[in-house]
Amino acid sequence: MTEPVLKIFDIQRFSIHDGPGIRTTVFFNGCPLHCPWCSNPESQKGRTELMHFDRKCTHCGRCFQACPNGAISFSPETGPVIDRSKCRRCGSCARVCLSDAMRMTGKEVTVEEVMATVRRDRHYYEKSSGGITVSGGEPFLQSEGLAALLKAAREEGITTAVETTGNVSAESFRKGLGLVDTWLFDLKHADPEILKEVTGGNLSLIVENLKQALREKDSQVIVRVPVIPGFNFDEKSLTGIFRLTLASGGRQVDLLPYHVLGKSKYAQLGREYAQEGEKGLDKKELIPYAAIGQRMGLNIMISGKDPAVIGG
Ligand code: SF4
Ligand code: SF4
Repeated sequence: MTEPVLKIFDIQRFSIHDGPGIRTTVFFNGCPLHCPWCSNPESQKGRTELMHFDRKCTHCGRCFQACPNGAISFSPETGPVIDRSKCRRCGSCARVCLSDAMRMTGKEVTVEEVMATVRRDRHYYEKSSGGITVSGGEPFLQSEGLAALLKAAREEGITTAVETTGNVSAESFRKGLGLVDTWLFDLKHADPEILKEVTGGNLSLIVENLKQALREKDSQVIVRVPVIPGFNFDEKSLTGIFRLTLASGGRQVDLLPYHVLGKSKYAQLGREYAQEGEKGLDKKELIPYAAIGQRMGLNIMISGKDPAVIGG
């Protein structure tokens, strides 16, 4: 049988926010949603993307000379300016750039190639109850490859976590059942119209898959809520998400305060940042909402570096 090829855009070792303990996080390319606050916008189109890092650029002009499609204009003052409508994502500019200021994201790898990186930190997983986390993008868009990777990790005694939007067919989702120790399951809004309009998500599909994950006997499900000003950062929206979690059988919720860490990537990809001007949230601002969830019977965490005190 041919080994599945995985389309990924990054592997991060020593992650501490993607599940229990110290983890290696593998980021799969491609996403069915288009959340305007996404901190991994390079994943959204599911293909290689050209990124330009202005701060690293020495204005040497090599990329301009190398582009076979006339997609780069150049002057020593402005440096390279990319016309994305002409770019064929061939990578010639990135290959000649000596400063790593032009970079193609996204690559194809085998399960074994990923595992070669993952097993390097086995010692840390054992000490911290960590393991591998598959994130994205949406891992279940590559459900065969995802299942093969999770099985390979399990066979080596490495625990598994998957971060998912849940916005995939039930059939694709089933390929991961029985292979995941910790589910990090995103639930962004409980109003199907708002969810659809802002992210393109299908709430009934998401809830159906959340219930599938929650029926798993030997795994933990953490419902993760990115809390976004202007979208769900209000009592009505968050209470709706808490209710939906409880109705689906969930008990554990992790609130993720909005941050702007991915903002610079939009400029590097030549895209507009839709949340321009919006400040990140302090986790203290979420405490009153967490307290509401606690009173409703949920176990609420607020992710972040500082401990949050959640009052009753
Ligand atoms: S990726 Fe290819 S087509 Fe696009 S700007 Fe670079 S050299 Fe030109
Ligand atoms: S080759 Fe690299 S450093 Fe030179 S102008 Fe292009 S992006 Fe900048």
